[in-house]
Amino acid sequence: MALSVKLAAVAAAAVFASNSAFAEGYPDRSITMVVPFSAGGPTDTVGRLIAEKMSADLGQQIIVENVGGAGGTLGAGQVAGAEADGYTILLHHIGMATSATLYRNLAYKPLEAFEYVGLVTEVPMTLVARKDFEPTDLAGLITYVKENAETITMANAGIGAASHLCGMLFMQAVDAPIVTVPYKGTGPAMTELLGGQIDIMCDQTTNTAEQIKGGTIKAYAVTSSARLDIFPDLPTVAEGGLPGMEVSIWHGIYAPKGTPAEATDRLATALQNALADPDIAAKFAELGTKPSPAADATPAALKAKLESEIARWQPVIEKAGVYAD
Ligand code: ASP
Repeated sequence: MALSVKLAAVAAAAVFASNSAFAEGYPDRSITMVVPFSAGGPTDTVGRLIAEKMSADLGQQIIVENVGGAGGTLGAGQVAGAEADGYTILLHHIGMATSATLYRNLAYKPLEAFEYVGLVTEVPMTLVARKDFEPTDLAGLITYVKENAETITMANAGIGAASHLCGMLFMQAVDAPIVTVPYKGTGPAMTELLGGQIDIMCDQTTNTAEQIKGGTIKAYAVTSSARLDIFPDLPTVAEGGLPGMEVSIWHGIYAPKGTPAEATDRLATALQNALADPDIAAKFAELGTKPSPAADATPAALKAKLESEIARWQPVIEKAGVYAD
């Protein structure tokens, strides 16, 4: 055997040996899951539920760290630059795809900076208002917004957040520019909606379900194509006259580029087991959502989803001409 071939074989064997040692021992300490929005918001809720179940499967704690701001790009950027050792992961949503076009100066490239673990859930959104907001149904809201656009305030979690995308779709559908107020997440935005400091918001059911059920906020429509089991009386946006507003917020788990496949595969198994747990299905159902099927909770499925969603949103954003910079 030529020396170079021998050396290559030795090197390959060493990599194999260290990888299998890594796989056997992983994880041997706690893992940080960055949620790129505020604590108490919809992504945080999904993150904490899934982190708790995955921790039990992994035998190590997954600790949620909230890094909110700039529509989720600050937290994603932090994970893109973190050590690729399997001990820092990211839970992000559709904003991972839209930020690729919305932010022309992102410090990381969404398609190049991460390894993939899998899809978690697709969450519908709801169009909601403070409890005493005048319009009583979606038709009334549309008329009211057209007549009072300059005086209405709409909350969102920054450019690229789900609430921003949904708000953009709403403004395009009603053809009225509403004053928007950005927060680090819709958790704090909900507090202001409850306090009456903000008029309306489009937010994931993982943040609005409890408040709608409790009657502490007003709901006009869901952005899914069918009505939700938890709100059988709440019309879909299409039923209410805004068919172009359908959107659902898919969430996925990522790791920094270069994280060993042994780690992402182990995390994917933990994710699949967590999603198959009836407890998670029940908790998600209360929040108006469902666990992703096992076939989607895989690295390949999340990669394909991100690629197709970047391609889907790019022309929409370019046509709207709205950029974060
Ligand atoms: N998911 C964000 C949050 O957790 C809100 C959003 O994307 O609009 O606050």
